[in-house]
Amino acid sequence: AHIDRISAVDGDVHAFLHVDTEGALAQAAASDARRADGELLHALDGVPIAVKDVLTTTGLPTTCGSKMLEGWIPPYDATVVTKIKNAGLPILGKTNMDEFAMGSSTEHSAYGPTRNPWKLDRIPGGSGGGSAAAVAAFEAPLALGTDTGGSIRQPGAVTGTVGVKPTYGSVSRYGLVALANSLDQVGPVTRTVLDSALLHELIGGHDPLDSTSTTTPVTGLVDAARQGATGDLKGVKVGVIKELAGEGWAPDVMAKFDESVDLLTKLGAEVVEVSTPSFEHAMAAYYLILPAECSSNLAKFDAMRYGLRVTPDGKTPSAEAVMKASRDAGFGDEVKRRIILGTYALSSGYYDAYYGQAQKIRTLIIEDFKKAFEQVDVLVSPTSPSTAFPLGAKLDDPLAMYMQDLATIPANLAGTPGISVPAGVSDDDGLPVGVQLLAPVLEDARLYRVGAALE
Ligand code: GLN
Repeated sequence: AHIDRISAVDGDVHAFLHVDTEGALAQAAASDARRADGELLHALDGVPIAVKDVLTTTGLPTTCGSKMLEGWIPPYDATVVTKIKNAGLPILGKTNMDEFAMGSSTEHSAYGPTRNPWKLDRIPGGSGGGSAAAVAAFEAPLALGTDTGGSIRQPGAVTGTVGVKPTYGSVSRYGLVALANSLDQVGPVTRTVLDSALLHELIGGHDPLDSTSTTTPVTGLVDAARQGATGDLKGVKVGVIKELAGEGWAPDVMAKFDESVDLLTKLGAEVVEVSTPSFEHAMAAYYLILPAECSSNLAKFDAMRYGLRVTPDGKTPSAEAVMKASRDAGFGDEVKRRIILGTYALSSGYYDAYYGQAQKIRTLIIEDFKKAFEQVDVLVSPTSPSTAFPLGAKLDDPLAMYMQDLATIPANLAGTPGISVPAGVSDDDGLPVGVQLLAPVLEDARLYRVGAALE
């Protein structure tokens, strides 16, 4: 049914870069056989899933939305991919994304943009717009995304889906082509909070192949979602983040956000205002730390071992000339912008002035979270400052694009978990609005309890 749905709508939506019809149907048939024998591997055995094209998959292309990796078929599976395969989830295919996960609209994909199924002239968010659009368009019931600065939560908000960024280190990053190692996390994209909980528990847990993997078991999320679904939030203290609301936020988004906060109170939660003064500087710090890390990560695309190789005309070219020509042809403008920014910020003489300062802000943000969570159990904000904007609207204005992640970036800098839950549709344009919940490190269960209550 999902393969049929993809055939029917993906010509318009373009959520997928690659559909594995044969593979998915074979996995589905194997699951049917297990079901007939009463030997299902997992609650999600047989439930198809779409995978963001930044996660490695043996036998299936992995392009990261870049010409640099066009046609590359990885020799190994990401740990999260191994886990979904071992649980019997058929993989429908690989989803579109901004090149190397840099962007908030999926327009930076080298393979053309994904469109928002709610309104095809709108962006689906980014960088994981393909995963979110696939789930929103009923092309897939579940998807995997990655969130470095908001790339699961912001697409979730603007497509009316649920998106979760787990605690840093609680889901393996092995086989995730790194954007910024200290910020990246893999997480679920689904239509309900309970679905996310099921998928999150499946993909979470310690992995010896990821040196930053935590040893704490990832459990209790499904129970928390079930508890939240009863609609009782008595005893839960919620903090509205003063710095992440009001000015700069679209009035139609704020209207839905206020309704969500009222609902929290109605369900018995105690709601207070909390201040996190350093969040104001989160974006500035992120756009130094991220380019610094990614400029270093992307150095591996040197055209020598794998990926695109462009050989300039003329006599036998030097290795350096091949690298230059290949990187020039293989990377898009946004990727080049960040490589230049990051290389500059890490240059000797500038290191302390930029990267060092950004790391200090990061510490202040962690402390703000700590202080906030001494007062409340979870924090709440709108996920994204506006509903889905028209394609092309912010393409020539990188700063305006970066602003999409104002509310989501602090959690990546601090390693804390976050969820975006649908909060209804805007009274102005009828497009979805998301509300974001944030919890302390390793307290992801709180997100599921409060998120399920809000649903
Ligand atoms: N929009 C942010 C960026 O462009 C977030 C990216 C992400 O989470 N992968 O960096």
